[in-house]
Amino acid sequence: MKFQNSLQYYKKILGLEDIDIHFKLSNDTAIDWDDKNSRWILEYQDTGILFTLIHELGHIFYSQKMNYIYLAKKPQQYNSINMVLWDLHNTVVDSFVNYSLSNYNEICKEYFEYLDAVFKRDINPAHYHSYICGYFEFIIGFNYILKDQKEKIELNYNSFINKMLFEMQNVYGLKKEDFELINKQLLSFKKLKTTKNYKEIKSFDFNLLKLVKLIDNTRLSSQIELMYPEL
Ligand SMILES: [Zn+2]
Repeated sequence: MKFQNSLQYYKKILGLEDIDIHFKLSNDTAIDWDDKNSRWILEYQDTGILFTLIHELGHIFYSQKMNYIYLAKKPQQYNSINMVLWDLHNTVVDSFVNYSLSNYNEICKEYFEYLDAVFKRDINPAHYHSYICGYFEFIIGFNYILKDQKEKIELNYNSFINKMLFEMQNVYGLKKEDFELINKQLLSFKKLKTTKNYKEIKSFDFNLLKLVKLIDNTRLSSQIELMYPEL
Protein backbone atom coordinates (compact mmCIF):
# COMPACT_ATOMS: atom_id res chain seq x y z
CA MET A 1 0.00 0.00 0.00
CA LYS A 2 2.74 2.40 0.89
CA PHE A 3 4.21 2.05 -2.61
CA GLN A 4 0.81 2.41 -4.26
CA ASN A 5 0.40 5.75 -2.52
CA SER A 6 3.84 6.95 -3.58
CA LEU A 7 3.22 5.69 -7.08
CA GLN A 8 -0.05 7.65 -7.34
CA TYR A 9 1.58 10.72 -5.86
CA TYR A 10 4.45 10.83 -8.32
CA LYS A 11 2.29 9.79 -11.27
CA LYS A 12 0.25 12.87 -10.54
CA ILE A 13 3.28 15.15 -10.30
CA LEU A 14 4.49 13.87 -13.66
CA GLY A 15 1.07 14.06 -15.32
CA LEU A 16 0.89 10.29 -15.76
CA GLU A 17 -2.40 9.71 -13.88
CA ASP A 18 -4.09 8.18 -16.92
CA ILE A 19 -1.28 5.78 -17.72
CA ASP A 20 -1.95 2.14 -16.87
CA ILE A 21 0.96 0.85 -14.80
CA HIS A 22 0.90 -2.60 -13.30
CA PHE A 23 2.99 -2.56 -10.13
CA LYS A 24 4.65 -5.59 -8.64
CA LEU A 25 7.20 -6.04 -5.89
CA SER A 26 10.19 -7.98 -7.15
CA ASN A 27 13.86 -8.61 -6.48
CA ASP A 28 14.82 -6.15 -9.18
CA THR A 29 13.65 -2.71 -10.30
CA ALA A 30 12.68 -2.19 -13.94
CA ILE A 31 10.05 -0.81 -16.25
CA ASP A 32 8.85 -2.37 -19.48
CA TRP A 33 5.90 -2.26 -21.82
CA ASP A 34 3.60 -5.29 -21.78
CA ASP A 35 2.44 -5.71 -25.39
CA LYS A 36 -0.11 -8.39 -24.57
CA ASN A 37 -2.02 -6.31 -22.04
CA SER A 38 -1.13 -2.87 -23.44
CA ARG A 39 0.14 -1.51 -20.18
CA TRP A 40 3.38 -0.75 -18.40
CA ILE A 41 4.82 -3.15 -15.86
CA LEU A 42 6.83 -1.65 -13.05
CA GLU A 43 8.82 -4.17 -11.09
CA TYR A 44 10.10 -2.74 -7.88
CA GLN A 45 12.56 -3.83 -5.27
CA ASP A 46 12.18 -1.96 -2.01
CA THR A 47 15.60 -0.53 -1.18
CA GLY A 48 14.22 2.17 1.07
CA ILE A 49 15.21 4.77 -1.54
CA LEU A 50 12.14 6.35 -3.04
CA PHE A 51 14.00 7.85 -5.97
CA THR A 52 14.45 4.42 -7.56
CA LEU A 53 10.65 4.18 -7.88
CA ILE A 54 10.34 7.73 -9.24
CA HIS A 55 13.14 7.02 -11.71
CA GLU A 56 11.17 4.19 -13.32
CA LEU A 57 8.18 6.50 -13.76
CA GLY A 58 10.68 8.95 -15.19
CA HIS A 59 11.36 6.57 -18.09
CA ILE A 60 7.69 6.74 -19.11
CA PHE A 61 7.58 10.49 -18.55
CA TYR A 62 10.73 11.11 -20.57
CA SER A 63 9.86 8.74 -23.42
CA GLN A 64 6.55 10.60 -23.80
CA LYS A 65 8.27 13.94 -23.71
CA MET A 66 10.76 12.82 -26.37
CA ASN A 67 8.07 11.00 -28.32
CA TYR A 68 10.28 7.91 -28.48
CA ILE A 69 9.10 4.84 -26.60
CA TYR A 70 12.47 3.06 -26.58
CA LEU A 71 13.69 5.32 -23.83
CA ALA A 72 11.40 3.24 -21.60
CA LYS A 73 10.55 0.05 -23.47
CA LYS A 74 12.96 -2.74 -24.35
CA PRO A 75 13.57 -2.99 -28.12
CA GLN A 76 12.26 -6.00 -30.06
CA GLN A 77 15.77 -7.28 -30.59
CA TYR A 78 16.71 -7.04 -26.93
CA ASN A 79 17.91 -10.66 -26.92
CA SER A 80 20.56 -9.89 -29.54
CA ILE A 81 22.08 -7.12 -27.45
CA ASN A 82 25.27 -7.62 -25.45
CA MET A 83 24.23 -7.17 -21.81
CA VAL A 84 27.35 -5.27 -20.79
CA LEU A 85 26.71 -2.73 -23.55
CA TRP A 86 23.05 -2.67 -22.58
CA ASP A 87 23.95 -1.72 -19.00
CA LEU A 88 26.22 1.08 -20.22
CA HIS A 89 23.53 2.29 -22.62
CA ASN A 90 20.94 2.20 -19.84
CA THR A 91 23.18 4.36 -17.69
CA VAL A 92 23.28 6.95 -20.48
CA VAL A 93 19.49 6.93 -20.91
CA ASP A 94 19.05 7.06 -17.12
CA SER A 95 21.04 10.28 -16.96
CA PHE A 96 18.72 11.98 -19.46
CA VAL A 97 15.71 10.61 -17.57
CA ASN A 98 17.06 11.92 -14.26
CA TYR A 99 17.75 15.32 -15.75
CA SER A 100 14.19 15.53 -17.06
CA LEU A 101 12.94 14.93 -13.50
CA SER A 102 15.12 17.60 -11.98
CA ASN A 103 12.63 20.39 -12.70
CA TYR A 104 10.36 19.05 -9.98
CA ASN A 105 11.33 20.18 -6.50
CA GLU A 106 9.72 17.22 -4.71
CA ILE A 107 11.74 14.90 -6.91
CA CYS A 108 14.99 16.85 -6.54
CA LYS A 109 14.80 16.23 -2.81
CA GLU A 110 14.54 12.50 -3.37
CA TYR A 111 17.37 12.59 -5.91
CA PHE A 112 19.58 14.26 -3.35
CA GLU A 113 18.70 11.55 -0.78
CA TYR A 114 19.58 8.90 -3.33
CA LEU A 115 23.00 10.39 -4.15
CA ASP A 116 23.70 10.99 -0.47
CA ALA A 117 23.02 7.33 0.31
CA VAL A 118 25.14 6.08 -2.60
CA PHE A 119 28.18 8.20 -1.77
CA LYS A 120 28.15 6.96 1.83
CA ARG A 121 28.30 3.37 0.71
CA ASP A 122 31.40 1.26 0.24
CA ILE A 123 32.10 0.58 -3.38
CA ASN A 124 32.66 -2.97 -4.44
CA PRO A 125 31.04 -3.65 -7.79
CA ALA A 126 31.60 -7.17 -9.07
CA HIS A 127 32.53 -6.18 -12.62
CA TYR A 128 34.62 -3.65 -14.43
CA HIS A 129 31.66 -2.39 -16.42
CA SER A 130 29.75 -1.70 -13.19
CA TYR A 131 32.51 0.74 -12.24
CA ILE A 132 32.21 2.42 -15.61
CA CYS A 133 28.41 2.63 -15.25
CA GLY A 134 28.81 4.11 -11.78
CA TYR A 135 31.39 6.56 -13.03
CA PHE A 136 29.12 7.77 -15.86
CA GLU A 137 26.07 8.01 -13.64
CA PHE A 138 27.62 9.87 -10.74
CA ILE A 139 29.89 12.24 -12.65
CA ILE A 140 26.82 13.37 -14.61
CA GLY A 141 24.45 13.22 -11.65
CA PHE A 142 26.55 15.24 -9.25
CA ASN A 143 27.95 17.75 -11.74
CA TYR A 144 25.18 18.28 -14.28
CA ILE A 145 21.91 17.26 -12.63
CA LEU A 146 22.01 17.94 -8.90
CA LYS A 147 21.23 21.60 -8.26
CA ASP A 148 21.00 22.20 -4.52
CA GLN A 149 22.89 21.12 -1.44
CA LYS A 150 25.89 19.94 -3.45
CA GLU A 151 28.32 21.09 -0.81
CA LYS A 152 26.67 18.80 1.74
CA ILE A 153 27.73 15.68 -0.10
CA GLU A 154 30.76 16.95 -1.97
CA LEU A 155 33.36 15.32 0.29
CA ASN A 156 31.69 11.93 0.08
CA TYR A 157 31.27 12.34 -3.68
CA ASN A 158 34.97 13.10 -4.13
CA SER A 159 36.13 10.13 -2.15
CA PHE A 160 33.58 7.89 -3.92
CA ILE A 161 34.80 8.97 -7.36
CA ASN A 162 38.46 8.71 -6.35
CA LYS A 163 37.94 5.14 -5.15
CA MET A 164 36.29 4.28 -8.46
CA LEU A 165 39.12 5.89 -10.42
CA PHE A 166 41.70 4.02 -8.40
CA GLU A 167 40.02 0.68 -9.08
CA MET A 168 39.51 1.34 -12.77
CA GLN A 169 43.10 2.45 -13.29
CA ASN A 170 45.00 0.16 -10.98
CA VAL A 171 42.88 -2.98 -11.03
CA TYR A 172 41.46 -2.78 -14.54
CA GLY A 173 44.18 -0.79 -16.29
CA LEU A 174 42.10 2.01 -17.78
CA LYS A 175 44.59 4.62 -19.02
CA LYS A 176 44.71 8.27 -18.05
CA GLU A 177 44.26 9.31 -21.71
CA ASP A 178 41.09 7.22 -21.92
CA PHE A 179 39.71 8.96 -18.86
CA GLU A 180 40.40 12.35 -20.29
CA LEU A 181 38.41 11.46 -23.39
CA ILE A 182 35.59 9.95 -21.32
CA ASN A 183 35.42 13.05 -19.11
CA LYS A 184 35.32 15.29 -22.16
CA GLN A 185 32.44 13.30 -23.61
CA LEU A 186 30.59 13.32 -20.27
CA LEU A 187 30.99 17.09 -20.19
CA SER A 188 29.04 17.37 -23.44
CA PHE A 189 25.99 16.05 -21.51
CA LYS A 190 25.76 19.56 -20.10
CA LYS A 191 24.86 20.99 -23.51
CA LEU A 192 22.83 18.03 -24.67
CA LYS A 193 20.68 17.45 -21.60
CA THR A 194 17.79 19.56 -22.87
CA THR A 195 17.73 18.01 -26.34
CA LYS A 196 14.35 17.26 -27.92
CA ASN A 197 15.81 14.80 -30.38
CA TYR A 198 16.50 11.21 -29.36
CA LYS A 199 19.00 10.90 -32.22
CA GLU A 200 21.29 13.25 -30.34
CA ILE A 201 21.11 10.93 -27.35
CA LYS A 202 21.88 8.05 -29.66
CA SER A 203 25.06 9.68 -30.97
CA PHE A 204 26.13 10.78 -27.47
CA ASP A 205 25.62 7.16 -26.37
CA PHE A 206 27.64 5.78 -29.31
CA ASN A 207 30.50 8.25 -28.84
CA LEU A 208 30.73 7.49 -25.12
CA LEU A 209 30.54 3.71 -25.49
CA LYS A 210 33.23 3.85 -28.16
CA LEU A 211 35.64 5.22 -25.54
CA VAL A 212 35.08 2.22 -23.27
CA LYS A 213 36.59 0.07 -26.04
CA LEU A 214 34.67 -3.11 -25.31
CA ILE A 215 34.12 -4.06 -28.94
CA ASP A 216 35.16 -2.63 -32.29
CA ASN A 217 33.25 0.34 -33.64
CA THR A 218 31.49 -1.55 -36.45
CA ARG A 219 29.98 -4.03 -34.02
CA LEU A 220 29.22 -1.28 -31.53
CA SER A 221 27.43 0.65 -34.23
CA SER A 222 25.16 -2.29 -35.10
CA GLN A 223 24.46 -2.87 -31.41
CA ILE A 224 23.47 0.78 -31.03
CA GLU A 225 21.08 0.38 -33.97
CA LEU A 226 19.33 -2.43 -32.08
CA MET A 227 19.03 -0.25 -28.97
CA TYR A 228 17.44 2.64 -30.90
CA PRO A 229 15.01 1.08 -33.36
CA GLU A 230 13.47 3.45 -35.88
CA LEU A 231 9.76 3.90 -35.41
ZN1 LIG B 1 16.49 3.51 -15.61
